[in-house]
Amino acid sequence: MANAIVHAAERKAFELVLSQVIKTAGKDGGYLKVIDMAQKFLGDTWAPEAFEKLRTNFGKGQKWANFFDRVLQNIDPDVLKGMFLSFGFEMGYVGYHETRKNAEKYGVNVPWVILFDPTSACNLRCKGCWAAEYSHQLNLSFEDMDRIVTEGKALGTHGYVMTGGEPTIRRDDIFRLAKKHKDCGFMIFTNGTLVDQSFCDEIKACKNILLSLSIEGLETATDSRRGEGVFDKVMATMDLLRENRLPYGTSICYTSQNYQAVTSDEFYDFLIEKGVLFSWYFHFMPTGNNTTMDLVPTPEQREYMYHRVREIRGFEGGKEIFLMDFQNDGEWVSGCIAGGKAYCHINPAGDVEPCVFIHYSGANIHDKSLLECLQQPLFRAYHDGQPFSDNLLRPCPMLENPAKLYKMVHDTGAKSTDMQDPEEVDHLARKVEQYAKDWAPVAEKLWASDHPDYRQKEESEIEGVVF
Ligand code: SF4
Repeated sequence: MANAIVHAAERKAFELVLSQVIKTAGKDGGYLKVIDMAQKFLGDTWAPEAFEKLRTNFGKGQKWANFFDRVLQNIDPDVLKGMFLSFGFEMGYVGYHETRKNAEKYGVNVPWVILFDPTSACNLRCKGCWAAEYSHQLNLSFEDMDRIVTEGKALGTHGYVMTGGEPTIRRDDIFRLAKKHKDCGFMIFTNGTLVDQSFCDEIKACKNILLSLSIEGLETATDSRRGEGVFDKVMATMDLLRENRLPYGTSICYTSQNYQAVTSDEFYDFLIEKGVLFSWYFHFMPTGNNTTMDLVPTPEQREYMYHRVREIRGFEGGKEIFLMDFQNDGEWVSGCIAGGKAYCHINPAGDVEPCVFIHYSGANIHDKSLLECLQQPLFRAYHDGQPFSDNLLRPCPMLENPAKLYKMVHDTGAKSTDMQDPEEVDHLARKVEQYAKDWAPVAEKLWASDHPDYRQKEESEIEGVVF
């Protein structure tokens, strides 16, 4: 009860400051006041130098001040306030502190964000996507999803991300869930083809739902993978979201084939013109028995991504769009965030997996509480093994340290949860071994060049690759 009163008072205080900030941020010196406020709320999670760096880069006319000017001009202020309350205050501030406290209390990882798949069904038939071939439809019921969020909140988790299948097939349940749990932020990774005006109206009513639209590049690239006419549908959705003054971003899987197309100047200009605020980049992951290494970027291609993303989002130059490349940005989140450290994934069958790309588990939400699922042996092994390398450009126990995933899965007895064609961890680990060997020296060179205190390792010193 006392906690609830403190939470309500803090939320109210945050809301009052936020209203003021939204009114004045774009004015002279406004962003500096926002940074002061952020430091008050987040001062124990970011180093003071990080706030100083922001202060020197948020003057009038500077790149990121221009970006936020655009946000303030183009996004509905009520929606913006709702997003800051749900994603900023509840997920970022309350969630971060509560989950850390509970992680200590229970001695396990407690995630800050939980990804779950409302359904395995999808309205598209994209090449290479398991959902296209999967004949049986699996769903988390509304009650399942409500239970995940309710038990998650009890542990401090206030951020939820929906993947799939195509989550928006379950739109009514999603809106019901978002309205019931106003103290949570919900991000939906969607192909964008089922978004219409009534969908936008619901987002405006909820104010705690953020969309991330998946695209493969421009028209030819998107349609050749997702089907003819899909690009035009996504464009129509982007236009609709912009007309409704809703914030949104994109999610992009980069491969050996499209890495240049999805980082070209033309592509960024096009995204910005469409009102896209952020893009999440995902390195193609070769999970699945039938997935080969052909689409996995080579070390040279991945190095290109490393430099290009930093160039585009730099404080100067680049483009006014926020980018995150999850495989090359391990540095900002202390390496691998899976196994509940910052997030975990629940598939539509209810299996609680360490990561959306790692389909092994020893616990299912239908048999156990969320806390018991987080206490499963595989998650404890993640907890004990993180970070999997002191070079955070080699963060993954699968892609860059396959011997580590191989050992964790064998030691804990976790089973494949691939719903289409279970893949033995031996098969997966052997498949990526050569990639891990080839990437390691490049990662060493890049990490050493950015961290003068780091001693670049010789090939024989690099652990995690060879069995
Ligand atoms: S398991 Fe690999 S892909 Fe998943 S969060 Fe960790 S590093 Fe990223």
